[in-house]
Amino acid sequence: MRGKGDRSMIVMKFGGSSLESAAAVERVAGIVRAALARKPVVVVSAMGSTTQQLLAMGEAAAAGKRAGALDKLRALREMHEHEIGSLLPSSCHGEVGKILDCHFCEMTDLLGKISAAGEFLPEFVDDFSSYGERLSSRLIALAFRRFGMDSVHVDARCVILTDTRHMAATPLYSQTYARVRDKILPLASQDKIPIVGGFIGATESGVTTTLGRGGSDFSAAIIGAGIAAEEIQIWTDVDGMMTCDPKVVPEARRVKTISFAEAAELAYFGAKVLHPSTLLPAMEKNIPVVVLNSRRPDVAGTRIVAEAVPCSNVIKAISCKRGIYIVNIRSTRMLMSHGFLHRIFEIFSRAETAVDMLASSEVSVSLTIDNPARLAEICRALREFAEVSVEEDQAIVCIVGDNLRHTPGVAARAFGALQEINIRMISQGASLLNLGFVVTARDAERSVKLLHREFFRDADPAVFD
Ligand code: ASP
Ligand code: MG
Repeated sequence: MRGKGDRSMIVMKFGGSSLESAAAVERVAGIVRAALARKPVVVVSAMGSTTQQLLAMGEAAAAGKRAGALDKLRALREMHEHEIGSLLPSSCHGEVGKILDCHFCEMTDLLGKISAAGEFLPEFVDDFSSYGERLSSRLIALAFRRFGMDSVHVDARCVILTDTRHMAATPLYSQTYARVRDKILPLASQDKIPIVGGFIGATESGVTTTLGRGGSDFSAAIIGAGIAAEEIQIWTDVDGMMTCDPKVVPEARRVKTISFAEAAELAYFGAKVLHPSTLLPAMEKNIPVVVLNSRRPDVAGTRIVAEAVPCSNVIKAISCKRGIYIVNIRSTRMLMSHGFLHRIFEIFSRAETAVDMLASSEVSVSLTIDNPARLAEICRALREFAEVSVEEDQAIVCIVGDNLRHTPGVAARAFGALQEINIRMISQGASLLNLGFVVTARDAERSVKLLHREFFRDADPAVFD
């Protein structure tokens, strides 16, 4: 099987909160050690909230607050030095210091360039924010070696090849898979543990790119698909995918098994556990994805699999995505005419803005977007032939499950549960896996609570914990 991948390997991805401190890194080392027989490839996020902090520093430098940004950069260095340093004997501190010196020196220079440009341009965003994973992957590889584990750092930018779309790059799959196999399989066959930074990649000409916030999950799936792994594990700080956000409903249950199709709907419509693109490469190569909690490694987590998961409940989970805008487009010219939707979609497409939900009548179309960056330009173009109004602060609440497609009366139950809520838009996706409601953000929590009470009064013990 070598060369084409090896079904006896696994990918283990650890998120920022699983790496936020010395104790957390030590826990992760224990989890990896316990899995050595399965030949793990380890993908790491930046430590703790590093990415968030780097983005804030970049913004500050661009806004003329370079001194403040440099103070924060020093504090970030101290965090890395302190957490990793305290795991290692003092004989290793020189090595840690060298890695930190060289990266933080480059980052200081880069802040200078950002501040001179007066603008945090997308290529700067990617270059600067990539340092979180560049550092964590090197430092964790070093720490693992000191714990007696044979780990090797692999620079993700030599493996994940992407297009040039900064901050949301897409991998060039066939080249990337070839590189994953070339760089990673030989290490695994020598029983080494490859440690790769998530989130980052590079274009063919070597410019650093990122896959978007939360993109380390996606990196793990790409690498897993490239080596045809047996399983892709996403280690995070929750017990898995839940029937809904446990902060909203404390009785939310863990979903033990769910299909790719269902999990993809949930990830796209707001469940924060997985980056929405993660499942695509895994689905294509039919590799199960398992979501696990690094603080409670004995909990079985959520297993995401290709087959449908039989369940006596109609739905598997409820998601909620906030920060939604409704765009209402109305034109009497639409009456009996054709090509109207085409014209509308062309405008959204030109503005590279994705439409989530859509409802139309003979003279009006309402749709939702979650990215308002180019909304003004979109409205201007639409107003050339239609009346346009925008409603901010909306939320999409979705109920998701395979059984939706063949269970009569689900809509009636959902509407019954939501009878006191003002529902703005409804959509039963073409996938038939998902029934979505747009409500004002103010009503979102209440809607989730009501739906949870309606659909999970009795939860199938084979599927929910
Ligand atoms: N560190 C990146 C972020 O915070 C990527 C990731 O953690 O998945 O967005
Ligand atoms: Mg994440």
